[in-house]
Amino acid sequence: MNLKRITRLLMAGLLLFSASALSIRAQNGFSRDSSQPVDDEYTKKIREYTTETFFNSPLTDYLPAAPNVPTPKVVLGDVAGAPGKLPYAEEVYRYMRMLEKASPRVKVFSIGTTEEGREMIAVAIASESLLARLEENRARLTKLGDPRTINFDEAEADRLVAQSFPIYYITGTIHSPETGAPTALMELAYRLTVDESPYIKSIRDNMVTLITPVVEVDGRNRMVDVYNWHLAHPNENWPPLLYWGHYVAHDNNRDAMGLSLKLTRNVLNVYLNWKPIVLHDLHESVPYLYDNTIGDGPYNAWVDPILTDEWQMIGWKNVSEMTKFGMPGVFAHGTFDTWSPGYLMFIAATHNGISRLYETFGNAGADTLTRTLSPDEYSRTWYRQNPPLPRVKWSQRNNNNYEQTALLISLDYFNKNSKLFLKNYYLKAKRSIEKPKNEGPAAYVFPGDEPRLANQATLLRLLQAQGCEIHRATAPFTVALKKKKPDRAAAKPAETAARSSASPSSSTAAKPSETETRTFPAGSYLVRMDQPYSRIADALLDYQYWSPKDPQQDVYDDTGWTFGELGNVQVVRVTDTKVLSAAMDLVNGEVRAAGGIKGHGGDGGTTFVINHNADNALITLRYRLKNATFEATEEPFEIGGQKFNRGSFVVRVRDLREFEQILGDLGLQAWIVTAPPAVKMHALKIPRVAILHTWLSTQDEGWWRLAFDQMQVPYDYISTQDVARDADLNKKYDVIVFGPVGRGLNAIIQGLPMYGNAIPWKKTELTPNLGGFASTEDIRPGLGWSGIANLQNFVKRGGVFIGTMDTADLAVSTGFTPGVSIQRSPRLRAIGDVLKTKFVDSTSPIAYGYGESLSIYCFNGPIFNLSNVAGGGGGRRRPSTDRVTGRGTVDDPDVVQGRPPAEAPEPPPSSEAWEAASISDEQRRNLIGLIPPGLRPRVVLRYADARELLVSGLLDGGDEIAQHAAVIDSPLDRGHVVLFSNNPMWRGQTSGSYFLVFNVILNFDNLNAGRKLDVK
Ligand SMILES: [Zn+2]
Repeated sequence: MNLKRITRLLMAGLLLFSASALSIRAQNGFSRDSSQPVDDEYTKKIREYTTETFFNSPLTDYLPAAPNVPTPKVVLGDVAGAPGKLPYAEEVYRYMRMLEKASPRVKVFSIGTTEEGREMIAVAIASESLLARLEENRARLTKLGDPRTINFDEAEADRLVAQSFPIYYITGTIHSPETGAPTALMELAYRLTVDESPYIKSIRDNMVTLITPVVEVDGRNRMVDVYNWHLAHPNENWPPLLYWGHYVAHDNNRDAMGLSLKLTRNVLNVYLNWKPIVLHDLHESVPYLYDNTIGDGPYNAWVDPILTDEWQMIGWKNVSEMTKFGMPGVFAHGTFDTWSPGYLMFIAATHNGISRLYETFGNAGADTLTRTLSPDEYSRTWYRQNPPLPRVKWSQRNNNNYEQTALLISLDYFNKNSKLFLKNYYLKAKRSIEKPKNEGPAAYVFPGDEPRLANQATLLRLLQAQGCEIHRATAPFTVALKKKKPDRAAAKPAETAARSSASPSSSTAAKPSETETRTFPAGSYLVRMDQPYSRIADALLDYQYWSPKDPQQDVYDDTGWTFGELGNVQVVRVTDTKVLSAAMDLVNGEVRAAGGIKGHGGDGGTTFVINHNADNALITLRYRLKNATFEATEEPFEIGGQKFNRGSFVVRVRDLREFEQILGDLGLQAWIVTAPPAVKMHALKIPRVAILHTWLSTQDEGWWRLAFDQMQVPYDYISTQDVARDADLNKKYDVIVFGPVGRGLNAIIQGLPMYGNAIPWKKTELTPNLGGFASTEDIRPGLGWSGIANLQNFVKRGGVFIGTMDTADLAVSTGFTPGVSIQRSPRLRAIGDVLKTKFVDSTSPIAYGYGESLSIYCFNGPIFNLSNVAGGGGGRRRPSTDRVTGRGTVDDPDVVQGRPPAEAPEPPPSSEAWEAASISDEQRRNLIGLIPPGLRPRVVLRYADARELLVSGLLDGGDEIAQHAAVIDSPLDRGHVVLFSNNPMWRGQTSGSYFLVFNVILNFDNLNAGRKLDVK
């Protein structure tokens, strides 16, 4: 049988199935109110734009008519999902506000703005009487969500459950190229408002549906621009969506941990204020509807098992009902692992609610297209018994039908079981509060003697934004902690001794104490785990382990994120419940580090020293005090018993009051001194910084821009095309920062192929939302060889270039860094990990303020090797210890017979993996490529040894990168190239490694400080 025939049979079967849907309709309770008139014209268009009858359901194949209530057509000029119609966010809002005006069942709330100032909204739909009781209901939901307020009184909880109505929160188009949700949600809002079908009436009368139709508003409007450009130039290639939000693209759905983006904060605040039970986020990728909430393992280890049961219940109901409607390609499970809590929907999962997510099938715009699937998409598998069809005509209307049908099924099921879900909400909150006495821990402690108090406060404020309560100890307290495991090798003799002892008391004698006590000072912060939102704090602060042998080998996202580690802030997990009885107060308002002036000046004092501890606020201070004189000390020192790290600031200020106020804002301490310390210092001038971007992908560098903006470090934003054109970059810049691109160096140089038409990215009448902070007439040209030459000359003339991951590779591969090479390893799997690194050269300004080690974020390297010979490759060269065959034992020298023994020369000193191998005298002779000592790469930071490398996440083949250099300062003539193997600025989660970059910026013209040169 040929494929065509199979398809035909398949289609015929599906048609039959669809025809029987009429009778199923009644069985499922989804029957329409036959007395309500239908909007015939609208209904006709729905059917016209639906490409096959089985791509619709009895729930959405008609539109009810309601006098005086406008349908989406009034704004769209056609029905929802019509070809060629993609509304801007403002048009969607206009419609929602028209609905609000026309019906007492709709209320529109403004929920904040985006980075670019556009509005975000939430639309509440329910019966007039429910909407009138929103406030009293909110009070009940708040009590259910915090069982402490009702003293865990089960009878009271049941009363509240009986009286309350739940809220189901739906969010659309966080991912801008996934374009269908806004029109589907406009129509859904209309249906929920006017449809008199008994099941919809029941939803309306018993629960609130809350809708944010556009989550990524900046990106939505840019996407509509791009689509309109495409409609106006039907035969040309159109621009890919280079910028979605102001900073990042699809990673806007990885921000539920770091909360760096306004859209995340706005949705989170709605979630915390409204107390919805469900947060249901709409996406588009795979055919035709993937309810991916159930997903695949490994599941997030910190969520309540009650939640994972709820995922199954609602998810399978969707699949089951849509299968009965004869709609193909509806499935659950799939390959999405539910490990990371970074997705927007996870706001609900980590706050005692229910996270939900659909992937429907979209055409990235409103064109109707013939779509051909790959076998892995259309084949039948155990979790997809009714798979999508291999090839179909697909329309945005089909997508809207699937989205709405599935949502209506979910709303109906949720409504029918709302008391169960309300009770579960209470139970999950109760179990979150019971954490200390069940699974633990009892609390996380942020010690009061933390060296980086501003960074500590930043992390605590993040937890507060997540809804967590933070307490502060009013007196010292002592708790038992699990003893740190001794070194495995060191532990062995003790174990052996214990085992050999036969006395009955040996088991207790073998482990005299597995705990030790620790006293925390007053002023330490506590995140108690006996609070309703303990799970989010636990998920962020705990460690993660993903086994390399996990059945899930197709990892969806980052595997480790431990916030204390990546923030370079001490966080202590305490299981001893005694911690909860420490004397403490709840912190009212945001946690702030205390800042100000300490000590007494002798001469009316205008000279201050500020300890460099890699607290990010220090860079903000430098820029806030642009006109003050800053110097960095090149050695540690002590003044009046107070210790200061290498790199500490010596500041001379004129306006004392302003200085004190800024210190207070930033949570920094300055010591007034009579005289500057007697150590070598260099000036900290303010460099001119550029952040460089490509026209290929702007997301990963977007996280760098975000970090710079958060810390108020100004920069010019330039593209590879600007660099290609500018032969004198030194005239404008001192430091050029090239964040990771994620496309590889060849693409960075070549850009996009120059076939076909030019592809503009700029503001025009047709595309008012493009351009602005970055524009070009044609996105295709890349950095090119002229750009490489210009960048290299920039460095040679004294500029500083920062490259990370693939942009570090670019510098290494195009000759910026003689002596550095990159080793490829197919075996290494460091999938979004937290890894441990060690400082190799703490005299380098790049290391200022740090201790001995640092946890960093790593995604597969690159693995750097060093050499003292230009282009010399390198890598670990272990001297051979094997002796040749001959006389004597393994340690003896061989002896040549018949002549006196010759003395063997000393073997060359062995080098470590992060070092360049030493050059022997023999090799040195006429060695043209020998790099002069002052120009050799200087390793600042290296990866830790293999056995202590992994901090959090999945690491396989870690020995490949262990000990290798992680941050290298490689001089080139008068300038410097600073290479990062880790990504120091990632998703707002790596604030502990930001200062590696900021140190480069602050010390841009003194990076050689402290450098000891090789003798040879
Ligand atoms: Zn998506």
